Amino acid sequence: MNSVSDIFGKLVFNDKVMKERLPKDTYKRMHDAIDGGVPLDLEVANIIANAMKDWAIENGATHYSHWFQPMTGITAEKHDSFISPTGDGKVIMEFSGKALIKGESDASSFPSGGIRSTFEARGYTSWDPSSYAFIKNNTLCIPTAFCSYNGEALDKKTPLLRSMEALNKQALRVLRILGDNTTKRVISSVGSEQEYFLIDKDVYNLRKDLIYTGRTLIGSDPPKGQDLDDHFFGTLKPRVLAFMQDLDEELWKLGVYAKTEHNEAAPCQHEIAPIYTEANIAVDHNQITMDVMKTVAGKHNLVCLLHEKPFDGIAGSGKHNNWSLSTDQGENLLEPGKNPIENTTFLVFLIAVIKAVDEYHDLLRMSVAYPGNEHRLGGHEAPPAIISMYLGDELMRILDTIESGEEYIDDFERVMKTKVNVLPDFAKDTTDRNRTSPFAFTGNKFEFRMLGSSISISGPNIVMNAIMAEALEEFADALEGSDNLHEDLMHLLATTITKHKRIIFNGDGYSKEWEEEAIRRGLFNEKSTPGALRSYIDPKNIAMFERQHVFNATEVRARYDIKVENYCKTLNIEANTLIDMINRQIIPAVIEFGAFVAESANAKRALSDSIPVTMEIDLAKDLAVLNTELKHRIDKLAKDVKTAKNISDMEERAAYYREVIFFGMLDVREIADKLETIVAEEYWPIPTYSDILTSV
Ligand code: ADP
Ligand code: MG
Repeated sequence: MNSVSDIFGKLVFNDKVMKERLPKDTYKRMHDAIDGGVPLDLEVANIIANAMKDWAIENGATHYSHWFQPMTGITAEKHDSFISPTGDGKVIMEFSGKALIKGESDASSFPSGGIRSTFEARGYTSWDPSSYAFIKNNTLCIPTAFCSYNGEALDKKTPLLRSMEALNKQALRVLRILGDNTTKRVISSVGSEQEYFLIDKDVYNLRKDLIYTGRTLIGSDPPKGQDLDDHFFGTLKPRVLAFMQDLDEELWKLGVYAKTEHNEAAPCQHEIAPIYTEANIAVDHNQITMDVMKTVAGKHNLVCLLHEKPFDGIAGSGKHNNWSLSTDQGENLLEPGKNPIENTTFLVFLIAVIKAVDEYHDLLRMSVAYPGNEHRLGGHEAPPAIISMYLGDELMRILDTIESGEEYIDDFERVMKTKVNVLPDFAKDTTDRNRTSPFAFTGNKFEFRMLGSSISISGPNIVMNAIMAEALEEFADALEGSDNLHEDLMHLLATTITKHKRIIFNGDGYSKEWEEEAIRRGLFNEKSTPGALRSYIDPKNIAMFERQHVFNATEVRARYDIKVENYCKTLNIEANTLIDMINRQIIPAVIEFGAFVAESANAKRALSDSIPVTMEIDLAKDLAVLNTELKHRIDKLAKDVKTAKNISDMEERAAYYREVIFFGMLDVREIADKLETIVAEEYWPIPTYSDILTSV
């Protein structure tokens, strides 16, 4: 492997390349566009496009593509080659500023939730200069936003950029009130830890459920799952290590700050975390990471599973969204410093987060609601479906002090005594880790842990930025023009704490007691996806999005419709896959094994009456009874799927999928899993959990 610093960003049209290749003046204009959002004129765009093309061709590219993030949650690209005919039967390689800035793409194949009427199928992609172009598969990929003819966002980037802008605006107002006149820009920073499973491709190819749905729809517990807790941070297997090295190298070339890689709790489960960066870039990089993970896995004859719950009874995969706010001066506004009680800026921003999360916890819950995550949230290992915040003892005491107006007493033990002489005593974090909290303060950032592994992190960050902007706006409105700032501020903070502290919970988020307590506190506890999604269109939430100019009501409605429809479609595919597997693989296999058992009983009888055959008879009976029941349940599921498809009201249909199909699939699974434990291995038609989890 080449040295990391040589390959890092090799395939990215980054600042260094721009500095080298662009005329000084153009470079400056480009920076004005990146930092200050100053639009580029066509002349400048032409120069940039040409430099980009030359650089891309030197690095092996033949095509370019506007790379965008439609509302499906994955990325889309439409490839055009650079060639342009010269009239003499030859071509030259060309790329114009116009082609760089704006693309037109038939949007009708992407979900739009009714925004685009069928006669106006055009969608436009427009260049986002704040995210660097990069080369992937010999294609120059230009990060773009995707909008309708009327400018409504059809993607996940546009609203994210809007939310960052809203947050910047309100955060600056608050900073000015607090006497900061130097900060020019406030940026939301994000670092996302990505979990995933790696399994062998040959095993994967034998399971239709994995192929069509990304998860196993049947499968009984393996003899050894994660009972021994011996996988977490365990030694990497050579094949996995080779994958990770390859992955790092590919990501580094694309300028992704891949940093930490380790095993996770479940067998075959791993994690990759990048170094945090601006939210917009972090989202793009996470999309690239997921994409590259799949491709690199393929090269190692592996399959990377990004589904939230590929295996029942085994830890699922999530994404931890680490979020903080920093200034263009490099200051983290959520950094408590040595003396948090005197750090007014920190306290104001911290308390604004508390207010934002409490007021819109239903919206945060909504932002992580989709079919894959439904198997995780509210399960055992993942965060519960209820949003609460963890702050730790020291911050709690500070908040209590502010609320009561009493004197602050600091008697925290800050040095960790290891009680082993050779080990140095080390500074102790005053916020311990609370793994069970869905939204935890972890030293100088918040970690939102409810995201599922497969989704774009854009949605939750849009919500986070928007609700934070809203809270800060209210603070700024209350304080601007105050002639007794200190007193008014302390009063505002104290009343905010009183009003919103119900969202804080420092105990065990997985416990039954918490669920009961949360209900007493009036917190939203919704385990079903269709139920959680409804918060999107709550008038209170639409009003907030509109006030912050993040979404208009039409855009919210469109996104809601897409999510509800996606829920129905996903469950429909799962149910149909299950029906196919049961009818065409499992039931025939059980019949065959049953016949074999019956035959062997007959063979014994033919030899002599004195050989006992009760075991065979009992087994044949069990097989027949279970198989009959299985057939009964799968026929019912097939009938219910038909009913579901005929329900015309989308919300009603989604509710039916949740209440009938979701649980109907579990009923089928119950019997199939029982059969798996009594059918001979060589008769069972698909790889079992053991086969899959030991395949690498
Ligand atoms: P863990 O939760 O596994 O202990 P780390 O503390 O190593 O993880 O950090 C997890 C992620 O948080 C990394 O992606 C890291 O870059 C990111 N992170 C660290 N500081 C910040 C910050 N100020 N803002 C946003 N993300 C951050
Ligand atoms: Mg973490």
